[in-house]
Amino acid sequence: MESAVFYRNLRNPLERIVRGEGVFLYDAKGRRYLDAVGGTSVVSIGHGVKEIYEAVGREAANITYAFNGHFTTRWQEELAEAILSVAPPEMAKVYFMCSGSEANETAVKMARQYHLHRGKPTKHKIIARWQSYHGITLGMLALSGRPSWREPFDPYLMAVPHISPPYCYRCPYGKTYPDCAVACADELERCILQEGPDTVAAFIAEPVIGTSVTGVVPVPEYYKKVREICDRHDVLFIADEVLCGYGRTGYPFAIQPWGVSADIVTMGKAITSGYAPLSATVASARVVDAFMRSPSGEFTHGSTHSGNAMSCFIGLQVHKYMREHNLFARPGQIGGYLHERLAGLADKHAIVGDTRGRGLLAGVEFVADRKSHRPWPADARVTERIVAGARRRGVMLIPGMKDANYGKGGDHIQITPPYVISEAEVDMIVDVLDEAIGEVAATLPSAG
Ligand code: PMP
Repeated sequence: MESAVFYRNLRNPLERIVRGEGVFLYDAKGRRYLDAVGGTSVVSIGHGVKEIYEAVGREAANITYAFNGHFTTRWQEELAEAILSVAPPEMAKVYFMCSGSEANETAVKMARQYHLHRGKPTKHKIIARWQSYHGITLGMLALSGRPSWREPFDPYLMAVPHISPPYCYRCPYGKTYPDCAVACADELERCILQEGPDTVAAFIAEPVIGTSVTGVVPVPEYYKKVREICDRHDVLFIADEVLCGYGRTGYPFAIQPWGVSADIVTMGKAITSGYAPLSATVASARVVDAFMRSPSGEFTHGSTHSGNAMSCFIGLQVHKYMREHNLFARPGQIGGYLHERLAGLADKHAIVGDTRGRGLLAGVEFVADRKSHRPWPADARVTERIVAGARRRGVMLIPGMKDANYGKGGDHIQITPPYVISEAEVDMIVDVLDEAIGEVAATLPSAG
């Protein structure tokens, strides 16, 4: 029977998932899939954790919808406190929405009103990076440096200046670290100067890049430079941690290992592990103070489901579960093993150009020539065929975007499993990937 659902691709009917447990999903035909990407980097505590549903049955009976423009709830209050309990000390308050896109929209509006409240009405521009993703709404698509997704909607997108990504494997300056002196960070300052510092409100970046060039971890000096440049020009730094935050890279906040603070941090995905839709925009004391000092204290924003009680309740249960099972730190521990095993693939397959990432956020890039990093032509369908080969063998991967090589093709995949993954399950992923790469490589002219 024809489905009534408007699928993402109407020519591609989807299998029906009926059960999840740990890192595995099971479809209606009884097939098992190892979810090596946690849905889409969402699942942190694993699929089918019954404590979450039991808590809903036990404690959530009184939860009813209360509009958060009129009321707060115990769950919203407690989850905000719980998030701040794992946040760097400068973070002060949390604003809840449903999706990562909305969390970033919230951050942008917060940054804009921060400057308005401080009497700087000309500061409105948001600078973003190429090879980035900040969300699907037209506002966040305008920020996203992903050519292939922008193209159909280009006529609607507001003007956003973009700078080069800190992508060492394809250095935008053709340089090598450390001789490059982190020139890609200096580009931010040039961009602010050219736009006019009085017009720039904020710079937004994913601390570790998620879906656009998966697993790119900027060099140690990068965010320190970014922070200094932002401070010099009274520009806020927004860290989009929707994908890389909340433990994914082994730290509650992904920006932490660089030893710098962001003014606003956005989160989503892992905070409810997919058990309910929820995102968070975490504001630092500096931002909160500007609102507090303003005559109205008002943040002109909010939607029907801001701070939804059920989502916050589930977020709180996931937070407790993560603390009890030491899951904020676990990706940092098991991630080492994943990266070691992925690096082994490069020894075996000439088409593996780069393996990278931090914690349980890993990317593998495929190339036709290892010396020049030349990508395969698009019609070789390298990523697509590797992902399909892994799926046939029961492992779900996410194909990286086709814009990795600055909008001109490029092949990479994403591996972002639930935080509860075991070493044996990491082995299953990498062994299947090994086979899938071998199968595709055998059909290609030999890589350089
Ligand atoms: N920011 C980043 C870094 C993301 O990876 C995503 C989703 N992949 C988003 C924002 C948007 O989140 P959502 O799809 O929940 O709106």
